[in-house]
Amino acid sequence: MRKWVYTFGGGVAEGSRTEIDQLGGKGANLAEMAALGLPVPPGLTIVSDACGLYYKNEKTLCDDLKVQVLQGISGIEAATGRAFGDTSHPLLLSVRSGSRTSMPGMMDTVLNLGLNDHTVEALGHHSGDARFAWDSYRRFIQMYGDVVMGLDHEVFEEILEDEKARLGHELDTEMSAVEWQHVVKLYKDMLEQELGEPFPQDPHVQLWGAIGAVFSSWMNPRAKTYRLLHNIPEAWGTSVTVQTMVFGNLGSTSATGVAFTRNPSTGARELYGEFLVNAQGEDVVAGIRTPQSITEAARIDSGSDKPSLEKLMPEAFAEFQAICDRLESHYRDMQDLEFTIERGKLWMLQARAGKRTTKAAMKVAVDMVSEGLISEQEAVLRIEPSSLDQLLHPTIDPRVERHVIGSGLPASPGAASGAIVFTAEEAVEAENEGRKVILVRVETSPEDIHGMHAAQGILTTRGGMTSHAAVVARGMGIPCVSGAGTMRVDLRNEKLIGLGVTLTKGDIVTIDGSSGQVLKGEVPMLQPELSGDFAQLMVWADAARRMTVRTNADTPGDARAARSFGAEGIGLCRTEHMFFEGERIHVMREMILAEDEAGRRAALDKLLPMQRSDFTELFTIMHGLPVTIRMLDPPLHEFLPKSDEEIEEVANAMGLEPGFMRRRIDALHEFNPMLGHRGCRLAISYPEIAEMQARAIFEAAVAAARETGAPVVPEIMVPLVGLRSELDYVKAVIDRVATEVMGEAKLEISYLVGTMIELPRAAIRAHIIAEAAEFFSFGTNDLTQTTFGMSRDDAARFIPTYQRKGIIIQDPFVSLDFDGVGELIRIAAERGRRTRPDMKLGICGEHGGDPTSIHFCEDVGLDYVSCSPFRVPIARLSAAQAAIKARA
Ligand code: PEP
Ligand code: MG
Repeated sequence: MRKWVYTFGGGVAEGSRTEIDQLGGKGANLAEMAALGLPVPPGLTIVSDACGLYYKNEKTLCDDLKVQVLQGISGIEAATGRAFGDTSHPLLLSVRSGSRTSMPGMMDTVLNLGLNDHTVEALGHHSGDARFAWDSYRRFIQMYGDVVMGLDHEVFEEILEDEKARLGHELDTEMSAVEWQHVVKLYKDMLEQELGEPFPQDPHVQLWGAIGAVFSSWMNPRAKTYRLLHNIPEAWGTSVTVQTMVFGNLGSTSATGVAFTRNPSTGARELYGEFLVNAQGEDVVAGIRTPQSITEAARIDSGSDKPSLEKLMPEAFAEFQAICDRLESHYRDMQDLEFTIERGKLWMLQARAGKRTTKAAMKVAVDMVSEGLISEQEAVLRIEPSSLDQLLHPTIDPRVERHVIGSGLPASPGAASGAIVFTAEEAVEAENEGRKVILVRVETSPEDIHGMHAAQGILTTRGGMTSHAAVVARGMGIPCVSGAGTMRVDLRNEKLIGLGVTLTKGDIVTIDGSSGQVLKGEVPMLQPELSGDFAQLMVWADAARRMTVRTNADTPGDARAARSFGAEGIGLCRTEHMFFEGERIHVMREMILAEDEAGRRAALDKLLPMQRSDFTELFTIMHGLPVTIRMLDPPLHEFLPKSDEEIEEVANAMGLEPGFMRRRIDALHEFNPMLGHRGCRLAISYPEIAEMQARAIFEAAVAAARETGAPVVPEIMVPLVGLRSELDYVKAVIDRVATEVMGEAKLEISYLVGTMIELPRAAIRAHIIAEAAEFFSFGTNDLTQTTFGMSRDDAARFIPTYQRKGIIIQDPFVSLDFDGVGELIRIAAERGRRTRPDMKLGICGEHGGDPTSIHFCEDVGLDYVSCSPFRVPIARLSAAQAAIKARA
């Protein structure tokens, strides 16, 4: 019989954290803590494979599984001295989900399970608190009715609100035992009326219902969206943890809280967390009551007059602090912990690696190296490369005056400006239209994640540092200010009321997620730079990596930014981008519209000095580092005006007849321009263009070499080659011009001529092309397009459908298709090197900045990756991680 259930508690556990794939994060870490002898309420975890089986069996639980769960429950009964369904010592359970990677708030939970009309009396008797017992029972019915029986929780809220109004109570805490008992009756009556069946009194029926509901919640729309956004495979499924209930709401000596072993915003080595006295776990995260600080230092810092846990329950605090230290050194990482104190007794409910801002992740990693907990290479592996984006976010220029209209908690760093919207839907709509917005909510819930993702920043007026908005925004790397209590949202009138101002939907605000401030209007920002822990980690990363990292840069500004981020050369300069600026486009158009070679040459003569000065600047900035310049690539009509109005305007400016212009544009029209007259085909049709570009490159190399004293070795790249004879033709032009310029300048310039591999034919014939090409650069944008036969400009229309329908998981234009495009890269690399063993191989498609694609490049043995300037640090770190993993 397959083992479906793993038990834990009382100092022993059947599983451990290494079985996270089956036990889920929650189950695995509870097992680990139990085995360490920490105070964990006894429980059991149903493995995630059972989730798949549940769906296969048309949402039923198989008998083997039920038998094993019941055996597990017997164990829990023995450990706790209570019995499930017993009317004198009832065992109450929580039933929770737990996937391999945390999916906060996406799936369902049932608490207080096992309560019924009889066990509630026993709970009241044993706790000596009938009010607590009836309150727990009504909470259970409410949760179970919603999660398992499918009734909207609003209907319960309505009954409760009516009852409170009738009794003249404002707060739940004013309700007495008898009053809760009456609410229970109203709930049960309503359930029976709505669903035609009574609320289940049999605890076993309750248990199977709750387990099934947690499995079912794996497929709820929220969870599906979350998985799509985080690339979590559906096939993983969720595990289910069934655990003894402990109560943080048993009066003033009980409490519940969450804590991080280090500060999750800054990474500082200080216990950081919040708790509520006399509350259940969900109350802390829900942000309904304002939580208190765990440590005295944090309380003083926040200026709160509510006592800290340290002061209020010193013994439980001391035990908790010792457990934090123990878990940190055990896991060798910062932990995120949930705990409950039941009448003075501490219980650990969850441990997991704490989510943290990138800044904090870096500090924790660097500190842990100096504390001797981890090695430098482990530190490098601890940082998620794509999360560096967070640090590459702009910050508010400290020199500008701030018009502060509110403030809250600095929940997720970085600053962002945008127009106010009040709903997730509006944020998504704005993103689709390319507008920047700040999503303003009282508090966010899992239903809002779509909109949170679409917004530049998030502002909430309620909730703490561990509220949904804060946790999710940090995970997404989006700036967030949470709990801005000085501001008020008036949803009905779509207004945000701040200090002395009332803003309306569409008004621009800036949020500073690093300070918690909310500012009026758009504010000047500063671009980020590498320093401190970031710089230290990059030093370790650079020491560990094999591949070099270059940048795709077309302008001096790009090149400078890339250098400051550590680029080690230019892997792709798309020369056509230089032709779009100012005056140049006119000259370019002149060249394209010319009717013969003489006309083209006249225009090219004007373009030459412009290109030469651009290249000189690039070579000078790169100061001896390699610079790869690509010959003109796009179809020529891209440079021409499109609408009638534009045509008329441009024709007038150029002193041409609009009719003539239209005829030339028509003549250049192509049905399939991406597969048309572009790439090296242009240089073959119009060699004078290649000639001009080659001359500009060599003359610039001479000038820069003289100016900087550093040798310049241009790497000239011919695009869209499929045949060796194409490359031969263009290379001959380049070589001829090189000889001419060197003769004129009386200076020897070394240079390389290579090709992009962008066509399947080029990949397959790489050994032949390598006879002429001195290097290959994989143009994986086109190579993906030509391998799939999917237009890169149109794929966005159907790729999301493919993803939704599970036909592909990743967009192949974002993350390399290892099996198809990757196979072609392998073939080309291997065949190219067979002909020319020392051949330099690189990648310059968008994939050059994508972490998983970079791992592939390491695996294939490429020499470098090239990516946009802001991705350079991401690529440096990814390349280091790939090299470390390859050596392991
Ligand atoms: C490519 O095709 O991958 C490439 C880098 O060139 P471009 O994107 O300019 O076509
Ligand atoms: Mg290309």
